[in-house]
Amino acid sequence: MTATLSARIVAATGTSGTVSVRVSEVTKTYGPVRALRNVSLTLSTGRVTALLGPNGAGKSTLLSLVGALTRPTSGRVEHVGLGSRTTVRSTLGWLGHDGLLYPDLTGLENVRLSARLHGCADEAVEAVRARFDLSAFADRPVRTCSRGQRQRVALARALVHAPHLVLLDEPTTGLDAGGVERLEAVVREEAARGVTVLVVTHDERFASALDAQVVRMEAGRIAVATAC
Ligand code: ADP
Ligand code: MG
Repeated sequence: MTATLSARIVAATGTSGTVSVRVSEVTKTYGPVRALRNVSLTLSTGRVTALLGPNGAGKSTLLSLVGALTRPTSGRVEHVGLGSRTTVRSTLGWLGHDGLLYPDLTGLENVRLSARLHGCADEAVEAVRARFDLSAFADRPVRTCSRGQRQRVALARALVHAPHLVLLDEPTTGLDAGGVERLEAVVREEAARGVTVLVVTHDERFASALDAQVVRMEAGRIAVATAC
């Protein structure tokens, strides 16, 4: 993509809400692999961005850069009004491929632990327990839960502290139809709170239900970006 086209996409998609993350002409290489090639993207508060594309397109790499979990090889990732890189990392609402759960703790213990690390009151735990309908399995060790049940606990853990920046990598993985519907509502609610949400998904139907800015990636580049 040319710098001019990147600039046009930023201009086209950066108009609603307040800019919170600005990715400018970012390239990321892992040895000989060019995971991202001259990617520019603007994320704003109160808006959901859905990131789609085939395996290896660079979606998870871009998510990590937005979360300040990695640094670009060249180009810039700026966080506006979200604090330093350390603050961004420590306050992130992050759901990666690994759900970051302790298998021998119960679902509720996992969520409570995360809540306490972030200094949240028990009400926050109760709120996400209800939000993700965890009660039927919340008191079982996570290792005994099904894939979809674990995913619901992982989502509750990721969102319990009402983060300002919500980054979800393939969050519908393992969820049944009811779980996906519940997640659609949660993602919309998060944006309505006025925070920034970036969701990687392969699920076109899920993406279209989010009223999201849709960004399609191919081979490390942004192929298409539409304003929501
Ligand atoms: P996606 O999430 O779209 O499937 P990724 O961002 O995970 O794609 O990966 C993009 C490319 O970068 C792939 O070719 C992948 O193998 C490579 N890659 C990602 N992370 C690493 C890493 N830590 N070390 C080496 N190569 C990596
Ligand atoms: Mg990925």
